[in-house]
Amino acid sequence: MNILVINAGSSSLKYQLLNPETQQVLAKGLCERIGIDGKFTYKPEGKQAVKEADVAMPTHNEAIKAVLDALVDPANGVIASMKEIDAVGHRVVHGGEKFARSVLITDEVMAAIQECNPLAPLHNPANIIGIKACQALMPETPMVAVFDTAFHQTMPPAAYMYALPYEYYEKDKVRRYGFHGTSHKYVTQRAAAMLGKPIEELKLISCHLGNGSSIAAVDGGKSVDTSMGFTPLAGLPMGTRCGDIDAGILQYLMNKYGMDIDKMLNVLNKKSGVEGLSCVSSDFRDLENAAGEGNQKAALAQEKFAYEVRKYVGAYAAAMGGVDAVIFTAGVGENDKIIRSLACKGLEYMGLKLDEAANDVRGKEAVISAADSKVKVLLIPTNEELMIAIDTAALAK
Ligand code: ADP
Repeated sequence: MNILVINAGSSSLKYQLLNPETQQVLAKGLCERIGIDGKFTYKPEGKQAVKEADVAMPTHNEAIKAVLDALVDPANGVIASMKEIDAVGHRVVHGGEKFARSVLITDEVMAAIQECNPLAPLHNPANIIGIKACQALMPETPMVAVFDTAFHQTMPPAAYMYALPYEYYEKDKVRRYGFHGTSHKYVTQRAAAMLGKPIEELKLISCHLGNGSSIAAVDGGKSVDTSMGFTPLAGLPMGTRCGDIDAGILQYLMNKYGMDIDKMLNVLNKKSGVEGLSCVSSDFRDLENAAGEGNQKAALAQEKFAYEVRKYVGAYAAAMGGVDAVIFTAGVGENDKIIRSLACKGLEYMGLKLDEAANDVRGKEAVISAADSKVKVLLIPTNEELMIAIDTAALAK
């Protein structure tokens, strides 16, 4: 079964054609600068050919058309015709409280996704455009929506409610939703396989540390708490996002510098996090280099980030009444041994001991805790596309 996975943003579109049963990726790539001029990247697996071309993409329709043309291209294509695409899986950022799992896309589902637009005004409208563009070109092919928020819909009210007037929840749907659900679901399933135990019997803490970062407490395969909130601005400090801060700071800075709320939010989303703190970069590789050269602020940004990760590990162990394994995933979690080491520092009291030699590894599944560590520490590369393809195949059958 071949599944086309689409992750549509406002001006870009990532795609991957893969077989979820064999886990073989047939081709993948990226459409960028949609609505501007259009840049198309196509990489058929196993073949050397990497095509980077300027393709006019006034809308997402031309972008999807370029993807389909490349996939069936006689020279560099990987399938003979579009009929060999059995279903399309779409990443959708926000499913609100309506979607606790992936769904086959119908007119009703489209309307319900649209209703979630105010909750993710930058992302959901772009996801919808991507779905419509695919439907126009492949009207007979089943389409599935896979939501970033769905996995966290199992959280209990004490975890998802904010201590605000109740009416803001009832009338305005203000609550914690959480994101990166597809990634947390994938790595916790892999963790159960690596540990050789049913996921129902495991308490897991999944640390998705990338440019955007979130941590999830997963008890028996169900998300019971997560660090991102109503928006992906909450929780850990990130590349450029501040994470949790005192809301009173907003009033203080806005009054002092005459900033309106949009300007303030721009600072919190784009100029904060480890970039804001380090005055160096949002990229953890740059932080490592700068800290290595003696830059104190870069070292502080690394320490602050790892410190917050460590606090969440402690908090979520408390929330679940224990923890069997801590998982590191995504760009930073998979590659940055310094952050992993700092994050695990001082957790020996709860039975978590990192093996520094085993931690010297990148980008592959590995157990990096010491042999006598009661709590296992796992490195698991995330694979959101595969998770989307698995859900899509199951629903399209
Ligand atoms: P996104 O949230 O955009 O999906 P990723 O999960 O791809 O982000 O993570 C990207 C981040 O991973 C980069 O900004 C960088 O900080 C970090 N990263 C990537 N490679 C390394 C590395 N070798 N060492 C440390 N950090 C890395």
